[in-house]
Amino acid sequence: MTSQNQTYKLEEEYDPQSRFDNIPPEIEPEFWKHKKLEDMSKAEWELLCDGCGKCCLNKLEIKGKIKFTNTYCRFLDCQSCLCKIYPHRFEKVPDCRDIDLAAIREKPRWLPKTCAYWLLDNGYDLPSWHPLITKKAASVKEAGMDLSNRPLVCETEVKDYEDYLVDWEDL
Ligand code: SF4
Ligand code: SF4
Repeated sequence: MTSQNQTYKLEEEYDPQSRFDNIPPEIEPEFWKHKKLEDMSKAEWELLCDGCGKCCLNKLEIKGKIKFTNTYCRFLDCQSCLCKIYPHRFEKVPDCRDIDLAAIREKPRWLPKTCAYWLLDNGYDLPSWHPLITKKAASVKEAGMDLSNRPLVCETEVKDYEDYLVDWEDL
């Protein structure tokens, strides 16, 4: 059972750069340019996530469209944009979503416009700041595309999500 007062920390030291320093040799160069999402291996799939954290913002559905708020799941570490309970997220947060094909194709769109999965599935290329292009996990933060350095409110502080709607260009 989750207590709102319990403090969670990142469960282990995890360096996001390690994903891009140690790309397995079986991963083909620029695999995302010639493979559909449904044909990707698990390792390729995982490399696509840029770690922006924007899918962990709370959202409202209003008049058939998803509106993002600047409130975040209590288990998100806003600086690293990592989940503090990643291995247990589905047990502890019933509405935490797995990023699978159904989630990516769901209408109305609830993933941010910059999400690599949504971009590729909709015929776009990866953005120039994506770590698979730059080989640097930090390039997401440097481009201002993750959640760090944004005005955010933890969901535990929120009474009415409608007070926190945001219209950021990258959502
Ligand atoms: S929005 Fe997409 S790219 Fe960003 S953290 Fe979520 S799944 Fe990864
Ligand atoms: S529990 Fe789910 S929504 Fe919350 S921070 Fe972790 S991955 Fe994001």
